Amino acid sequence: MGASLTADFSPLPKPALQADAGRWPQVPAEVLRVRSQSALAVLFQALDAGPAAFSTSLGAEDMVLLDLIRGHDLDIAVFTLDTGRLHEETYRLLQRAGARYGRCIEVLMPDPQAVRELVAAQGINGFYESVSQRQACCAVRKLQPLKKALSGRRAWVTGQRAAQSVTRSGLLAREPQGPGEPVKFNPLHDWSEAEVWAYLRAHQVPWNELHDRFFPSIGCAPCTRPVTLGEDIRAGRWWWESAQTRECGLHAPPAAAPALRPAAAQAGQHPSQPLQPNP
Ligand code: SF4
Repeated sequence: MGASLTADFSPLPKPALQADAGRWPQVPAEVLRVRSQSALAVLFQALDAGPAAFSTSLGAEDMVLLDLIRGHDLDIAVFTLDTGRLHEETYRLLQRAGARYGRCIEVLMPDPQAVRELVAAQGINGFYESVSQRQACCAVRKLQPLKKALSGRRAWVTGQRAAQSVTRSGLLAREPQGPGEPVKFNPLHDWSEAEVWAYLRAHQVPWNELHDRFFPSIGCAPCTRPVTLGEDIRAGRWWWESAQTRECGLHAPPAAAPALRPAAAQAGQHPSQPLQPNP
C-alpha cells in the first residue's frame, strides 16, 4: 500500500516583493565592488583548474555569476538542467537571459527512458510519498544529467552560499570532491542575500519573477513554494521534509554525492528504490 500524502497544501503565505530594495540593508558600492572582485578571483581559480563548467538554476545567485562570467568573457561553459517540471517563469527567464547574454546556456534534459521508468514505478508525483522516492526523482531528472554535463570537467562552478541553509553552513570557496570528480568552486560562498540583490539591481541583471512572489529559492514547480517572513531561505524547497534532507543531491557531501545513483545502477536497482548507503 502506498504511503500517505504528507505534503501541506494549506493556503500559501501572503506574497511579498523579494527583490524590493526597501527590504534589504544598503550595500555600499565599494563593498559590492570588493565582493565582485573576490567572486571573480574564485572564477579565475576555476578557470585555472579547468576545463570549467557552471551549472545554473537561474536563481538570483546564479544570475550574478552568469553576469560576471559573460561580462568578463570567461571561458566557462554554462548549462542548466531542465527537469521537465520547471515553472513557466523559469523558462521565461531562460529566454530573457539568452537575449541579453547570447544563447550561451546549454539546456540539458533527463533521459526519456529513465523518466518513463520512474513514472511507471512511482507515479507522476510520487516524490511526495517518501524521501527515497523524492531522491529517486531528483536522481533521474537532475543527478544523471548533471553527471553527464560534468564529465571531462575539472572545475564545477556553483552559486551556493553558506547562509542559504543549515545544509550549506561552512561552505568554502573551493571544495575538492571525490576522486575523479571536478573540484567545486563557490564564488558567492560568503555573500549575503542583500549583496546578491544589490548586485542584480546595480547591474540591471534580469531575475526570475518568482523571486518577486517570495520564492527566494526556486527549483521544480511541484517541489517549491513561497516562504513567509522569518522562514529559512530554502524552507520552500521540499517543505514537507525535514530541513536536513532538503537537498536534491546535486550538492551532497563529496562522500555521498558521486556514489548516489551509480551505486544503485550498478546494483541493478530501479531508481525508485531507496538509495543505498555508500560502501
Ligand atoms: S525537485 Fe521535485 S520534481 Fe524536481 S527532480 Fe526533484 S523530486 Fe523531481
